[in-house]
Amino acid sequence: MKQDTLKHKGKRNKLINLLKQKGINDEIVLNALNKIPRHLFIDSIFEDLAYEDRAFPILSNQTISHPYTVAFQTQLLHIQKGEKVLEIGTGSGYQTSVLVALGAQVFTIERQKELFEFSKKILRKINFTPKHQIFGDGYLGLPSFAPFDKIIVTAGVPTMPKKLLEQLAIGGIMVIPIGEKEQKMYTVLKLDENTFETMEFGDYQFVPMLENRVIE
Ligand code: SAH
Repeated sequence: MKQDTLKHKGKRNKLINLLKQKGINDEIVLNALNKIPRHLFIDSIFEDLAYEDRAFPILSNQTISHPYTVAFQTQLLHIQKGEKVLEIGTGSGYQTSVLVALGAQVFTIERQKELFEFSKKILRKINFTPKHQIFGDGYLGLPSFAPFDKIIVTAGVPTMPKKLLEQLAIGGIMVIPIGEKEQKMYTVLKLDENTFETMEFGDYQFVPMLENRVIE
């Protein structure tokens, strides 16, 4: 297995400082990112660049998000230890590991079989195993484990997915990028079964969240 060396740790500290400069101020989130060997989630040809604030291609034509995006989405969730968090779009598993590092009970769904398998392996290897890892369509959420205190969507959706709103706990927060080619980041706070408070944050670019397209 590839190692997590002092060199990687040094680069990681620099990345954390960069994220601070870019406006991430939640120390708990920064500490969680500082625990994760991001270079193990991407192809070794990118190893030297793993701690730059960049996205990289991963399996199945998908991407691992920028560290800034991961930090920003995580910060918006205000995760407390023990909370139930649903993640749609496991991808490499990097964002998943950050949620696990925060002490959340993480449920994560991925529709690409090879990414589901890859992320499962790496998360177990580095000891950041989520509570449940599911191969399936994230648009359906995970009704048998609902409600969730927090929901994070890491692919771009054209419109707000109703089933995910239903599975959010009262008082819960969902963070979700909405838009076709480009997305705006939104948080949705569920005030009661039918009342939601939505806030908009900056522009982002994500791979699309596709419905009914589970790939074996
Ligand atoms: N959080 C990931 C980002 C992955 S990109 C990381 O840190 O690496 C978004 C992921 O969402 C892709 O892996 C894509 O396959 C997945 N995805 C897209 N539509 C989906 C759906 N309907 N259900 C589950 N996963 C989906």
